[in-house]
Amino acid sequence: MQDTQQQLDIWQDVKSQLEMQLESNTYHEIFESVDSVFKVKNNYIYLIVHDEFIKKRIEMLYLKKMNRLLEHYVDEKHEYRLITQEQAEKELSQEQTYDIRQPDDSLSMDEAYFNANLNPSYTFNNFVVGNSNRLAYTSAIKVADQPGVVANPLYIFGDVGLGKTHLMQCVGNYILEGNIHAKVLYAKADQFVEDYVKYASKKRYNEFHKIYRDVDVLLVDDIQFLSKKEKSQEEFFKLFEQLHNMQKQIVITSDRKATDLKDMMSRLTSRFSWGVTVDINRPDLEHRIKILEKKLMAETSDTNMMPSKVIEYIASVFDNNVRELEGALKRVLFYCTAFDFDFTVKNAETALENLVKVKKNNKDFVKDKIQNILSVTSDYFSITTNDLISKKRKRIYLYPRQIAMYLIKDLYEIPYKRIGAYFSGRDHSTVMHSVEKINNDLQMDANVKIDVEKLRKKCGES
Ligand code: ADP
Ligand code: MG
Repeated sequence: MQDTQQQLDIWQDVKSQLEMQLESNTYHEIFESVDSVFKVKNNYIYLIVHDEFIKKRIEMLYLKKMNRLLEHYVDEKHEYRLITQEQAEKELSQEQTYDIRQPDDSLSMDEAYFNANLNPSYTFNNFVVGNSNRLAYTSAIKVADQPGVVANPLYIFGDVGLGKTHLMQCVGNYILEGNIHAKVLYAKADQFVEDYVKYASKKRYNEFHKIYRDVDVLLVDDIQFLSKKEKSQEEFFKLFEQLHNMQKQIVITSDRKATDLKDMMSRLTSRFSWGVTVDINRPDLEHRIKILEKKLMAETSDTNMMPSKVIEYIASVFDNNVRELEGALKRVLFYCTAFDFDFTVKNAETALENLVKVKKNNKDFVKDKIQNILSVTSDYFSITTNDLISKKRKRIYLYPRQIAMYLIKDLYEIPYKRIGAYFSGRDHSTVMHSVEKINNDLQMDANVKIDVEKLRKKCGES
């Protein structure tokens, strides 16, 4: 700005020199009205002229002269350039539109989180690392540090309540904190489906694409919800391809491995394996204690108020997932502070009595049901329960075993891994394949259908 003013003063001097040297008509016609400097940039001084015609005339006949005169007034080399009134105005208005987009600059962190659909309380800082989630954690940090470069997509899978959503949102929050203008979008897969159906039904594809394609980082939670939704899968496939091609970071969570996703087009699931896949498992006791300590720190300033015995008690009973663990801690905190009780193991037990009972009942209930299926199935096929659950590979055991696994999954929705535990510790994928085999055979083979129906009845579950 100061530069512009200074150059304007100099221009007045140059101009008076011109006035002395040029014919008065020429001077009046061409130079008299030139009295503003538009900008000074890279040592070019832009003078505003009335129109293109005058601009050309000066450039052809007088610009050299002007620049020679200028040399007497400036130390550093400067040169004049010309810009028409119209061009100058255009350039100004473009800067203004640029300015209008700048409310971004006044974008608050809260608004940025809101736009990204992120919960700012999920941070790497309060994510407790242990053996069960270390690899997932380090991969997420790397991705957050160099989005689109190290692992694309990052695919995180694991059972419910183990921190998938938390970790995924850490990535978004971290990137946003580094650059408030980064376009991060967190969406649950069912939200994606809902949006797609909504916009597609009105043929408003552009608006839909604007939401999902105009992003730098896309976080899609619980991708298994795309199962059976073919149109949405198709759309997600296109979205994935586009973002991936542009090296935009994609993070996906799921309750199972990509290869185990059911009713999902294979070209999509194969894409999920392009990057890095990590799983999160159940935390061990030591890890659960660490998590409780961290959560306690977030809840209260006086972390000593809860003795480690109480923390250990909670950690030992609630071993399923972190959400459950958190719930138990909150309950004890509430119970003891509301009634002004001491934080003793006894009081914690009372506070958690109902939760523990439900947990135990659930466990016992499921155990009874499974035992029932095992004995009914072995009776039906005239084999022993021991052979049914054994690792023996004879055909007479194989089919009954697959049927039993299928029934347990179908009737009680128990995780594959836990079903496997009832069958001599078979792994997740063995059980899953058995269940799927029976599922397929049911469509083709009437005998299988009859066996399953009869067994359902016998188990009291038809
Ligand atoms: P998921 O998405 O796998 O079902 P969430 O991310 O919703 O699980 O986690 C459930 C709860 O447990 C959340 O409140 C989350 O903050 C907490 N949580 C899970 N894992 C951790 C961890 N490692 N450290 C701290 N909190 C955790
Ligand atoms: Mg989740």
